[in-house]
Amino acid sequence: MSLPVLSAPVVAEEDPLDLMDEIDALKKVKDATILAHFYVDGEIQDIADFTGDSLKLARDATRVTTSTIVFAGVHFMGESAKIMNPKKRVLIPDLLAGCSLADSCPPEQLAAFQDQLRSQGRDFQTVAYINTSAAVKSLCDWIVTSGNAREIIDRVPKDKEILFVPDQHLGRYLVEITGRKMILWPGSCMVHEIFSIQDLIRAKKNNPGSVVIAHPECPQNILEISDVIGGTEKMRQYVMALKEPTTFLVATEVAMIHPLTKAAPQHTYIPVPGIMASSGETCACNRCPHMARNTLQKVRDCLRDGRPEIEWRDYFQQARAVLDKSLLQ
Ligand code: SF4
Repeated sequence: MSLPVLSAPVVAEEDPLDLMDEIDALKKVKDATILAHFYVDGEIQDIADFTGDSLKLARDATRVTTSTIVFAGVHFMGESAKIMNPKKRVLIPDLLAGCSLADSCPPEQLAAFQDQLRSQGRDFQTVAYINTSAAVKSLCDWIVTSGNAREIIDRVPKDKEILFVPDQHLGRYLVEITGRKMILWPGSCMVHEIFSIQDLIRAKKNNPGSVVIAHPECPQNILEISDVIGGTEKMRQYVMALKEPTTFLVATEVAMIHPLTKAAPQHTYIPVPGIMASSGETCACNRCPHMARNTLQKVRDCLRDGRPEIEWRDYFQQARAVLDKSLLQ
């Protein structure tokens, strides 16, 4: 007897405009504010109350007056919003939206390495990039973002060594611009790691007069041939200040093209790997799979259902003290 062939149930696509209306209405009913990172889809950025990079959003989170925050980004960002707002309910559209960079520095391994350094008599402070879990933040002395790293590193006493976690590329760049010696944790971001230097050089040749704008999470060889290096907010400020229409080759997460185009529509933006996969085909490898887990549908669902929620943990208190002195003072 042959068994019937079962086909997968067809899930009807919901109209994005209907979803946006629904989210707008739910926001009022549920007393919620939406924060969206520059790396989530443009349509989510469009319905958000605040958009920005990690530094701006961490600061924005402290200005929210509603009882609920929906954070469209990745898990560590939701944690930071909760740390800054212990009394508020913080929801994230998908609990599985993690971060390869944050995952590259597990708290147990960091604690063990710090103990090892101390046992060798090393006198150091730990500086963490904001892309770390709250448990890691609670083990550190300072938190930096690509927007404030230089300023914070200047606050580390000169007689102390610096252990910088978790991004080796950002760390190497900071060693260069601050002149401070650092012990670098060997972590990296899966998105910024993959840009191909050959393809970037070819793109520069194919686009005479273009300006390469790169995130400091990119490897050194990419930064060496970039014209502008900065976090996402710095990129936005830079393109807005330039009135003359210019072609930018953008070496960061591809969703960043949306806020750049909104801020300065006179320019042309080309995502670096998008035009340059060596095969000649287009390539979506500069899309962060974690950020891509955020969809309009999931934003609507989490607003409607009140979950997934970031729960308070004991170590958030210590992480809060570090975030507070690093980002707010
Ligand atoms: S782009 Fe990289 S650093 Fe940013 S969330 Fe994705 S994996 Fe993490």
